[in-house]
Amino acid sequence: MKEKVNVGNNIAEKNTLMFTILVSVFVMCFSLNSHSYTLDSPSTWMQVPLNKIDELNKKDPALALAFSKELFDEHQQKMTDFDKASILSKMAQHNYILGYYNVSQGHLDQAYALKVDLTTDVGISLLLTQGGIMDELGNSEQAMEKYSLAAKYAKVNENYRLLADSYAYMAYSYSINHKDTQALKFYHQAYLQLEQIGDELGLAYLKAEMANAYSLTFDDINAIKLAKEASDYFKKHQYYFDELFVQNVLAKIYLRKKDYQKAEVTYLRVIEITKQTNKKEYIYLAYLGLANTYHHSQQHDKARTFWHKYQEQHPLYENPSAEIGAIVLEAKLALSDNNITAAIDILARVEAILKPLDKHNALSWYVQLFDLQAQVAAIQKDFQTAYFKQKQARTLQKDYYNAERETIRSKYKVMFDTDQAILTNKLLEQDKALNKAALASATQQQKSQNMIIIIILLCVLVLCYFIYRQVLNSKALHKIANTDTLTELANRRYSFIYAEKMLLQAIKAKQSFSVVIFDVDHFKRVNDNFGHAGGDIALKELTSTANEYVRTHDILGRIGGEEFLLILPEASATQAYEIAERIRHAIEHKVMTIQGQSLQITASFGIAELTEQQDSFNQLFNSADMALYQAKDQGRNQVVMANEA
Ligand code: GH3
Ligand code: MG
Ligand code: MG
Repeated sequence: MKEKVNVGNNIAEKNTLMFTILVSVFVMCFSLNSHSYTLDSPSTWMQVPLNKIDELNKKDPALALAFSKELFDEHQQKMTDFDKASILSKMAQHNYILGYYNVSQGHLDQAYALKVDLTTDVGISLLLTQGGIMDELGNSEQAMEKYSLAAKYAKVNENYRLLADSYAYMAYSYSINHKDTQALKFYHQAYLQLEQIGDELGLAYLKAEMANAYSLTFDDINAIKLAKEASDYFKKHQYYFDELFVQNVLAKIYLRKKDYQKAEVTYLRVIEITKQTNKKEYIYLAYLGLANTYHHSQQHDKARTFWHKYQEQHPLYENPSAEIGAIVLEAKLALSDNNITAAIDILARVEAILKPLDKHNALSWYVQLFDLQAQVAAIQKDFQTAYFKQKQARTLQKDYYNAERETIRSKYKVMFDTDQAILTNKLLEQDKALNKAALASATQQQKSQNMIIIIILLCVLVLCYFIYRQVLNSKALHKIANTDTLTELANRRYSFIYAEKMLLQAIKAKQSFSVVIFDVDHFKRVNDNFGHAGGDIALKELTSTANEYVRTHDILGRIGGEEFLLILPEASATQAYEIAERIRHAIEHKVMTIQGQSLQITASFGIAELTEQQDSFNQLFNSADMALYQAKDQGRNQVVMANEA
């Protein structure tokens, strides 16, 4: 019984062990498939304010700037260096957008001092803003280096928005350096990136800038289309700051197309937005635009009024060439007022501004300058100079139109290149998709393999478990088949098998071998007096008493109701007699207590020994049985040897 319980525990233990192994196998397999990364990023609490800054920036960079400043001043203590750099980068960017280049540079320097890793997204933003400032200060070559670096890191980081930004900055740089075809090329690159990530707002910004670039290449159809798309988007989402920019672009195009009515309406819309949003600092652009529009449509009084308004509002230019349009207009207004002295003076200023510029890039201004100078000379009746200036103006104009034609030609080339780029991009994308699919299938295969390994392992474990259980079961069955349930002694069947086996060994080894059979005397009486249950107790007690005299290789079996067989390998008849006598004596003197009453019983013994004449178990058993009968006959409670019989 005890062993069975143990076996049960063992199975439970094995089950637990198996479960543990399985769990660890699963955990191991799944942990193989998971990775963890750490990136340089702002603190968690900074995410909300940083997002808010971006949201504000969409509405108005100035609001974003004010919020950033407040955040930076109040919570600096809490911020990590990376947090600080993130904010400083945004502040630098907003100041740059608003045209405060010195302040912007200050923020950039502060951010650099924090040793920001330029390969992070924050670092890339710093590079872009830095490039932007360099561009504004005329260092486009250096600016381009920054943009290239930014694009490189953005590609590595797979940040396609920043990559698009990098391309857009490059395009803008080309644009302000009059390399319009290059500019368009990079705008298209940016466009492709943004289209891919589906960034509608980014696309709207880009369209606004592209409209400007297209208008510079005289592609008014594309320019107007893009500008309108962008302005519609900004208007719909109430991004007035950006609408302001794009309406200005649109108005400029109408002005150049001599569509003065549309130009006027558009400029008036700009003024409306500036008043609506209180962004008066940009109103000067609209005033200048209107002054130009009215001048060209021969409304001199209005032109003059708006030129004065412009004069009152415009900011201090860091770059004098930004002012040239206004100064040329001033000269034209002076001429239409017949104020020659003022006109000469102003034209001298125009000349001074144009001098350091690449003539090639300023052809249209030179044409206007020479035309105005010719007009001045004509008014002064210096016809020779007038003729000469006119001739110069016409020659330049021819160049200008040639240049324009060249621009248009390269525009078609850009369009072709762009189509090629789109095609390459699509091919690359297909390639990428294929690679991705291959990778996915490889991963899937790996997963399936892992799964198969797990399943095989599981099957092996289950198989082992069943084999183990089978062994235990057959052992248990074996035990059940060979054991007597009441006394837990070997049963008749097993006693006989064992006896035969030991007998053969003894014959082979020429050793002694004896068997003893004993039977309880008058056992019926015990049953009569104590009942069957009482008789069972007596049988158990007798068994344990007899067992004390059984040696290691001996075996005691129950072969009948109250009949027992003792197999004694290596024992002669005499030795067997001694053992039997000791057992008989022990039984006789054992006082059992059954149901509160004491009971003493006796047993009769018959012994048979292996001899040359009787060397089969059957013979031995029969002899011993006969000796037992004799013992009963002679008065019971005694041992009789068969040979004596
Ligand atoms: P004796 O052998 O001395 O001639 O007399 P006896 O009374 O022992 O006679 P016998 O051997 O013929 O009877 C054996 C009795 O033992 C018969 C049966 O009722 C009883 N017996 C047999 N097996 C069991 C058992 O497992 N439990 C109990 N309580 N009694 C049993
Ligand atoms: Mg009997
Ligand atoms: Mg009996």
